[in-house]
Amino acid sequence: MFIIRLIILVVLISAVVFVYRKLTLRKSRASTAPAPASMKKCSHCGIHLPANEAVEYQQHFFCSQQHKDLYLNDHRDD
Ligand SMILES: [Zn+2]
Repeated sequence: MFIIRLIILVVLISAVVFVYRKLTLRKSRASTAPAPASMKKCSHCGIHLPANEAVEYQQHFFCSQQHKDLYLNDHRDD
């Protein structure tokens, strides 16, 4: 009977270790920071902001619609 208890104990311990390792592995993966989004510079005020938040116009990026309008007013050809 002793050997059966020992086997059950070993199986239980290895199962706990296996689950523990899986959990810690998942945790460490989650804690790694995601890849930084590409940053764009506002052509009007020079602030840097994530590309997905930037207002794009031709080759230029702006932090807001207002700065896009201001930039276009300042750089009008006529
Ligand atoms: Zn700006």
